[in-house]
Amino acid sequence: MKTAILASQNKKKIKEIRDILIKYGMDVITRDDAGLPTDEIEETGTTFEENSLIKAEGVLNMIKADSALMEKYSDSPVIADDSGLMVDALGGAPGVYSARYAGEDGNFAANNAKLLAELNGVPEDKRGAHFTTVITMLFPDGAKIVAKGECYGRITTELRGSGGFGYDPLFVPDGYEESFAELGTDFKNTISHRARALAELERILESD
Ligand code: IMP
Repeated sequence: MKTAILASQNKKKIKEIRDILIKYGMDVITRDDAGLPTDEIEETGTTFEENSLIKAEGVLNMIKADSALMEKYSDSPVIADDSGLMVDALGGAPGVYSARYAGEDGNFAANNAKLLAELNGVPEDKRGAHFTTVITMLFPDGAKIVAKGECYGRITTELRGSGGFGYDPLFVPDGYEESFAELGTDFKNTISHRARALAELERILESD
């Protein structure tokens, strides 16, 4: 069985991707499992495509720097993803800066408070937004597969629901009245940007 190495250490992402790639004869392991350093790779890009490629290249370079690892993983792809929220009334912000919108990386409460403040007074019909995920699968020979998924909706005027993470309490997907946080993770994972990017990855692998 072939092995794919995931740039992220996020357990949920590992499971989601593993469930798909197993169908194509690939096992998914983390950087930790592969004996690679797990320090953060700086996301210096200005698009999700760039940032997911930067992360995948970063991990591939760690493998290439070690001849024993290179021999072991000579035909293993590296998989990295990058996601974020784009709000129409803010010209697409916070976008690639979604995790650090309020400064501190990954402070969801502060990010949500800032988003609500920025949209204060913006009417319902101008509160459109969408999430995007880009997944890059990069092979040691330079070949790559890029899959993108989006989920459109709107931003609420107050926090709603306690499930999920990040901007989930503020995002109502099109066709629903509840926020991602109210809809719950299991359901969200059937319609989310990440689910759609994974479905796209699966379509590409199937057609190869
Ligand atoms: P990542 O690239 O998947 O780590 O996502 C970057 C940031 O985008 C996260 O820290 C969240 O702030 C936001 N984000 C990405 N996906 C979601 C989601 O499904 N719900 C809420 N926020 C998200």
